[in-house]
Amino acid sequence: MFSLEQFPLVFEAEHFEPYMSRDTINFHYGKHLATYIKNLNDLIAGTGYEKMRLGEIIVKSAESAADKKIFNNAAQVFNHDFFFRGLARDNGSDVPADVADAFGGRDKFLAEFKNAALSVFGSGWTWLVIENGKPKIITTANADTPVAHGIKPALTLDVWEHAYYLDYQNRRGDFIDAFLGHLVNWKMVEENMI
Ligand code: MN
Repeated sequence: MFSLEQFPLVFEAEHFEPYMSRDTINFHYGKHLATYIKNLNDLIAGTGYEKMRLGEIIVKSAESAADKKIFNNAAQVFNHDFFFRGLARDNGSDVPADVADAFGGRDKFLAEFKNAALSVFGSGWTWLVIENGKPKIITTANADTPVAHGIKPALTLDVWEHAYYLDYQNRRGDFIDAFLGHLVNWKMVEENMI
């Protein structure tokens, strides 16, 4: 059984204002993530998944069409925890040098990440991942997650409408700008690159 306490938010809900409101955090972390956890617990109760770690549930359920609901909820728990752990408001960190270099410069990297996030049609995620030792930007649809494909994530942005609608309504680009300019804990991204 999983619980929200296993996926703690290390900041107060107000911490990210004005770029991400307390209301957004309270709904997104306190309601959406909590619901994915509850659904996952309900779905795996009494099944072979019950004793598995989250990462194992994701990889195993990804192989079975019949377990799509389990996959969706498990992946959303992972994706949200990873997203929230990547946040910090204006903490003085910046895009790691090797990431900037891999994309032809810091601004080119940020522009490419923004374009990828804007390109997600419907619900999904934008990721900075490490593939074959190199940083790469990818997007996934709905709950899909790089860890299901054996790819290591370094950063993610949730572009489901519930991630930004209270603060930005339909202006996804403004949300992406606020995220990249003020909300990414680049120090954590650097640690994830190792
Ligand atoms: Mn979300």
